[in-house]
Amino acid sequence: MARQTTGPLPYLRDELPLEDVHCCMCGTVEYDVVSSAPPFTVARCCGCEFVYVTPRVPESHLHLVYAWDYYESDHAGDYGYDGYLEDGALHVRTFAKKADFVERHKKSGRVLEIGSAGGFFLNEMKRRGFEVEGVEISEKAAQFSRDHLGLTNIHCGRLEDVTLEGPFDVIAMWDVIEHVSDPVAILRHLRSLIARDGILVVQTQNIDSFVAKLLGQRWHHFKHVEHIYHFSPKTFASTLGKCDFQIAELTARGAGKYISGKFFIDRMRRFSRTVHFCLTPFRFLDKMSFYVNLRDEFIVAAIPTAQKGEDKQ
Ligand SMILES: [Zn+2]
Repeated sequence: MARQTTGPLPYLRDELPLEDVHCCMCGTVEYDVVSSAPPFTVARCCGCEFVYVTPRVPESHLHLVYAWDYYESDHAGDYGYDGYLEDGALHVRTFAKKADFVERHKKSGRVLEIGSAGGFFLNEMKRRGFEVEGVEISEKAAQFSRDHLGLTNIHCGRLEDVTLEGPFDVIAMWDVIEHVSDPVAILRHLRSLIARDGILVVQTQNIDSFVAKLLGQRWHHFKHVEHIYHFSPKTFASTLGKCDFQIAELTARGAGKYISGKFFIDRMRRFSRTVHFCLTPFRFLDKMSFYVNLRDEFIVAAIPTAQKGEDKQ
């Protein structure tokens, strides 16, 4: 596998190595180009239709992407979030909707969140009477959830590096699975931590959605350093199947988020500088918020299926 080093990308502080990859699901080398933004190509595997980005930051360096300015990015259209931790009031409302989704499947018990960020989801679940525990790679975000939300069970590090004691009744990953270098390994790990009647809840973006096709390479989820995979309902179902999970529910409802007027206007710059310029007089919208669901993401609730040597559930 060829390795190359690129000069610094405008939105990252330092130079990062990049490596060419092929489909991690079936090993096929051939692909069709979905989108291209040199040095990155969004590739659809000719063998299994899985969509991935090549080249990409190697697994050994991936944690550095989240160690810098991820939650206070100056280039949030391409990398990270702009003031994520300060937008707490918006996240509280967004995650209340997601908690409603979870509660439809599980009313009580232990919740584990992978990629717990500032802790807003876990705090909402705690408020609803669940026991909560989180894993977060960014020390800054983990510390925020401890200091500002009083969450004590937050492990800082990668999932494979922290010690967790299952079983968990709910395991949640909101907009995380597209960031990890080996989704199958992560899901298999989670399969070992989930209760037999537990529920795995995953949200990710949908490469086959109408909006993704309409916007093409300007799709806001094309953030090539961090979104290294793009699932569809079909490829995600297949990935879950490899990991002894099956889908109980898949929906785009509740997959939106509350955004500020400022966020909306800033993101319009990516879509069109002209549209962004025309919106400049409307800066008074900055302080307003509204719920947006473009239906280009989906939420899956998955249940564990019996593994070899395990009793039928
Ligand atoms: Zn493939």
